[in-house]
Amino acid sequence: MKDIKRIEKLLDQLRIKEKDSEARKIFAEVFDERTLKTLYKLSAKGYIQALGGVVSTGKEANVFYADGSINGEFKPLAVKIYRIETSEFFKMDEYLFGDRRFDMRRVSKKELIFTWVEKEFRNLERAFNAGVNVPEPYTYLKNVVLMEFLGEDERPYPTIFELKRDLSEVTDVEELYSRIKEHLTRLYRKAELVHADLSEYNIVLKDNDPYFIDMGQAVLTDHPLANSYLERDLRNLIRFFSRYGIKESFEELISSVKGD
Ligand code: ATP
Ligand code: MN
Repeated sequence: MKDIKRIEKLLDQLRIKEKDSEARKIFAEVFDERTLKTLYKLSAKGYIQALGGVVSTGKEANVFYADGSINGEFKPLAVKIYRIETSEFFKMDEYLFGDRRFDMRRVSKKELIFTWVEKEFRNLERAFNAGVNVPEPYTYLKNVVLMEFLGEDERPYPTIFELKRDLSEVTDVEELYSRIKEHLTRLYRKAELVHADLSEYNIVLKDNDPYFIDMGQAVLTDHPLANSYLERDLRNLIRFFSRYGIKESFEELISSVKGD
């Protein structure tokens, strides 16, 4: 059983924005004491200034908005919090084993989620440093990643999935497709990463510019399954953009991304 009193105290310390009592309810219901402590640490360190509302609730992770402070500067944050008790652990295995950055012999089942979080952070960092459009990663601790909030007034920018038919009204789809290709190419050749869960759900549109999110499962290009993940990513792109009249063959796309 949760110790209600201790949780209430942690919630008080978390500086949840007053107007968001809904957020407080979610924090109390969704998160265990350990997660609240981790959030508390991130706010005691000054990164999180005030926790805001929920942005997204998923099976494995929840995303919240927060006012943040990075090197003394105000930054809107996306706080991505993985559920400690997730039933989806087993799916993480194939993306972690085979990644030479992690010595999986030394990672216990309990620590798997923390390794996953570290991986997401390091993937974002690699991509960001290579000039790929991704949210800037700030820090991570245990099951929580702090990154740049892609949005305005605490509301996230839409994914291209959410824009659907409006997509061709708000942006030049051909131009967008070629920008996505450009960033994918940079991701592959410069960051040496394959996203591995690329689809219209994980591409956000910021001022007509595509940003890749959700990088936890991304693998190095020398991962034994990297090629099949890349194929899946590219086929998803082709499928989505074919609805907007973009016609590029898989062979053309893959050789343009890989550059061979
Ligand atoms: P799920 O378990 O729902 O599949 P997920 O693991 O796919 O979650 P993400 O795709 O990273 O998690 O994020 C879920 C949603 O949260 C996104 O669709 C987006 O709306 C929002 N989001 C994620 N990262 C950011 C960010 N950096 N800035 C703004 N919004 C974000
Ligand atoms: Mn996602």
